Formats: sequence, C-alpha cells, structure tokens
Amino acid sequence: MKSITILVPVYNEESVLPQLFDRLDDVAKNTPNYKFEFLFINDGSVDESLYIIADQAQKDTRISYINLSRNFGKEIAMLAGIDHAEGDAAVIIDADLQDPPELIKEMIAYWEDGYDDVYARRSSRQGETWLKKKTSQWYYRILQKSTSIPIQVDTGDFRLLDQRCVEALRQFRESQRNTKAIFSWIGYRKKEIFYDRDPRLAGQTKWNYRKLINLAIDGVTSFTTAPLRMATIFGFIISFVAFCWIIYLLVRPLFGVSTGAGYSSLMAVILFLGGVQLLSLGIIGEYVGRIFIETKNQPLYLIEEYHAGNRKKTRR
Ligand code: UDP
Ligand code: MG
Repeated sequence: MKSITILVPVYNEESVLPQLFDRLDDVAKNTPNYKFEFLFINDGSVDESLYIIADQAQKDTRISYINLSRNFGKEIAMLAGIDHAEGDAAVIIDADLQDPPELIKEMIAYWEDGYDDVYARRSSRQGETWLKKKTSQWYYRILQKSTSIPIQVDTGDFRLLDQRCVEALRQFRESQRNTKAIFSWIGYRKKEIFYDRDPRLAGQTKWNYRKLINLAIDGVTSFTTAPLRMATIFGFIISFVAFCWIIYLLVRPLFGVSTGAGYSSLMAVILFLGGVQLLSLGIIGEYVGRIFIETKNQPLYLIEEYHAGNRKKTRR
C-alpha cells in the first residue's frame, strides 16, 4: 500500500484545527487504498495549537508533529515538513482550510497517472481584497518576466509531490526561500488542477503587506539577477544621454548662443541621478545582504519536540 504524508504548517490556528482533523480524516476514509499520515509542523504558535495537535495525536496514531523552537515563517516550516516527509508522496496543505482537502483525492489520481507535482491553481479567490488579488497577480507576472524558469501563476503551496520531488526540495538549503520558485526550478512532470479558493474558515491571515513585500523582494533577488542588469543598463543610458548633453553645451557658445543660468535644470538632473544611484546601490545591497546571510550557514530551523506517531524511522 502506498503511503501519503500530509504536511500542515500551523501557526496560531487553534480555531480551525478541530475541523481540519475531521476534513482530513474524511479524505483518508474516502481514499481507502492509501496509507495516510498527517505531519503537523507547529511554527511557534502562541495559542493552544500545539496542545490541540498533541491531544489529537494521542487519539490518532497517524498524526505526528514537529514543534519548532520559535516562529520561523511558513517557508521554513514547510521545509521542516519536507525534511520529515516519509510517504511515497507528500501533500502540502494550509491549516486554515483555504485549500479544500477534498482535492487530495484528485491529486492522487493524477499522481497515479505518472505526474510528479500536481498543484492546485486558484480559479477564484474569495474573501480577499481586490488589492491583494491584484498585487499577487502583478507579482507573479513580474517574476515570470525576469526569470528564465517558468513560474506557475496563481498557484499556492497546495500540491502533491512525488517522493523524488521531495528529495529534490530537500537539497535547497537557502535560508531566504521562495518555495514557489523552487517548485518551478525542480521541474519534473507537472499537472495543474483548478479549484476555487475558499475564504479562511476562522482566525486571521498571518500575512501583512510588510511580510508580503519582503517575500516579494526575496523572491526576486533569490532567483534572478535581472534587477542588477537593469541598473546597469539604466545607468548606461543616463550617462550616455548626459554625455551628449555636455557636448552640446560645450559646442553651443561657438555658435554665439549664450548659456543662461540653469539652477533648476541642474538641480533636477542632480536629484534624478542621485535617485538612480541610490536605487542601484539598494539593488546591489539586496544581493550583498543575501550573500552575507547565506555564507553564515546557519541552521534553517531548530526542533523543540518531535512526536513520531506510528512512524518507524525518524529523520532529522
Ligand atoms: N503559517 C506558518 N507560519 C507563519 C505563517 C503562517 O506556518 O509564520 C501557516 C498558517 O498556519 C497556514 C499557512 O501557513 O497554515 C498559510 O497562512 P495564512 O493562511 O496566514 O496565509 P494566506 O492564506 O493568507 O496566504
Ligand atoms: Mg490562509
């Protein structure tokens, strides 16, 4: 019997966990030919999430959980799950039931057809603001244009991954992760299925615009050096135009045209160039910062407690 690991990153989800257990249990019942195991990664929740999971794990040996030593963010929490996924396939799913667990059955069917990475693409997003939808759409498009690997648009982390994708993902040990880009990078046979993204069942989204902007900058700088190239090209064009302008100014008096006082135009040029320089420095800084952080080679996460459930082997 093939086994499937369901990975759930959890951060302050006490209000939805009981329903999540029920829905996951239903999925396991409706898909009887597979052995399911549920791996919860508690990402430093400050509410009762851990105790609720631990409680459930007492009753249900299919449940195992990892308690991280603090909040590391969803990307790292997912990696911790990937590191400990033992099934023939792994499914990553949000705890808040925005990803309908019922889709897992369909994913498994495609997996049996030979696909390695079956991901759910949102055909609608309910309960999210217009601005959030639009910014997310633009972000994907920009990322797509600036990288050479194909990025899946409107796709979250909800997906089924074959064992070999899981193995591949484990090899990415960078600390500022953009999991979506990594999913694309690894390749293998991909299949997209469509679904309607439900509104969050309860609780609050953990994302705010500050976090999303950080994720976006990390996402771009971790996968493409296109912004550096842009800064170079932009700098080149501006200096070239300025050079021609200077020649023109030098030549003009020879033809008897006097050069007037040019305070405002001078200021404009100085401020503009200053801005471009700061921007370029900032872009370079982003990359240098990444190099700094990656060279420190810190562990990506620390585990406070690992409850293995009915698993035999343990991986760390
Ligand atoms: N999550 C996490 N660590 C965090 C933030 C979120 O493990 O620091 C989990 C969260 O519990 C949920 C999933 O990641 O299972 C998605 O989070 P959320 O619903 O807040 O994001 P959104 O759906 O709004 O993008
Ligand atoms: Mg959510």
